[in-house]
Amino acid sequence: MLPVVALVGRPNVGKSTLFNYLTRTRDALVADFPGLTRDRQYGRVRRGQKSYFVVDTGGIVETELGIEEQAMRQVNYALEEANLILLLVDARQGLSAGDEAIAERLRKTGKPVLLVVNKIDRADLAVVAGEFYALGLGEPYPISASHAIGIDALLDEVEARLPAPETPEVEEESPGIRVAVVGRPNVGKSTLVNRILGEERVVVYDQPGTTRDSVYIPFQRHGKAYTLIDTAGIRRRGRVSETIEKFSVVKALQAIETAHVVIFLIDAREGVTDQDANLLGMVLEIGRGLVIGLNKWDGLSPDQKDNVRRQIDLKLPFLDFAKKHYISALHGTGVGHLLDEVESIYEDSMRDLSASRLTKILQDALAAHPPPLVRGRRIKLKYAHQGGQNPPLIVIHGNQTEEIPGSYKRYLINAFREALDMQGTPIKLDFKSGV
Ligand code: GDP
Ligand code: GDP
Repeated sequence: MLPVVALVGRPNVGKSTLFNYLTRTRDALVADFPGLTRDRQYGRVRRGQKSYFVVDTGGIVETELGIEEQAMRQVNYALEEANLILLLVDARQGLSAGDEAIAERLRKTGKPVLLVVNKIDRADLAVVAGEFYALGLGEPYPISASHAIGIDALLDEVEARLPAPETPEVEEESPGIRVAVVGRPNVGKSTLVNRILGEERVVVYDQPGTTRDSVYIPFQRHGKAYTLIDTAGIRRRGRVSETIEKFSVVKALQAIETAHVVIFLIDAREGVTDQDANLLGMVLEIGRGLVIGLNKWDGLSPDQKDNVRRQIDLKLPFLDFAKKHYISALHGTGVGHLLDEVESIYEDSMRDLSASRLTKILQDALAAHPPPLVRGRRIKLKYAHQGGQNPPLIVIHGNQTEEIPGSYKRYLINAFREALDMQGTPIKLDFKSGV
């Protein structure tokens, strides 16, 4: 599980500026995809060997609330989901009553908090940081989010305080293909999980009590080992009173991060919502194999079906690599094919690709459609080799690679996808200049 860092503070102290700085992605691939709306409130920080989620609580807006209530609501949210909270304050404005109210709330909880004094980019403001000692949250960390001052020192401290990741344990406890079932509340996640475990003639192993947010259920299908990552929390058949689970984006992100393949469920009767698109953007960014289940396909009229199919292409053009399955978790229709798909996606995402084959595909693609000229010089791409699996990472060496436009990267990805006949997994490219 990756740890979670939450940014809290009054409006305008610089939370989203810091968030954007921390999560700015070096992977231009994602940013280059047209039509990809991303929930800017959740992101992943990667720094050296460290990786963690960061949440900008300021983006979690509940419009009917006043500013003070709004801030408190965000603090409560952060308290629930975060391992570490960064309280941002504004050096230009100095200490305010709003800061004190938030600090007081935070002091009463046991959560670790770092006090971050932002906007110290004017030299005379660095001294101001001292006045925030009064908040009783220890030493203030002076930074400028917009001028990238003090951030390394801050992140060193953040990382020192985060719990160590538990990856080896996940590998041990979750044999085989890890499949996460993800989607908004009520799309049919638990119905699908019950269907998979109940009717696919799977062997379910005893599940020891777990303290994790998601439930990990090992099972076998056609002699293959799987672990189902159930973000809804299994609701056993026959249980009458079911509490509606509170939707947690962090829980969904953790599940995506841990999975090899994500089954993303959409309620076909409701169509593709913004929240669906945002979550799907994160699946793409984290880079997992993906199959989209349009659930509740039973009982839709032909018109409604046409409508949903159109919507999918319109709203999710960046997911053209993912197969769409029209299913009914309730009746079981299409569920078997969905699981077959999971297996083939997993195999694609874990394939070994030889450098000679990748280089040949690259050269064919270059010959069919050469890269553009940049200031009179042609971008040169020379050879390719595999840099990783799940998702398949293809490293391409050449020169002026930082000038390659997004459209050309997409062209190359499609060329690799076609030549390798690779479906359902994102393909990532990494360019190295200077050969
Ligand atoms: P949020 O409401 O807490 O998310 O605040 P924003 O990130 O939207 O920032 C509010 C304003 O402060 C914006 O105009 C930012 O450009 C500005 N800002 C953010 N960080 C800094 C900084 O380090 N120095 C200065 N001078 N302005 C900043
Ligand atoms: P979750 O919150 O995503 O786990 O959703 P649930 O599995 O609890 O399902 C929410 C509601 O949708 C329940 O009333 C289900 O019976 C219903 N549902 C789930 N799958 C289907 C389906 O394929 N067709 C129909 N018609 N209803 C479904």
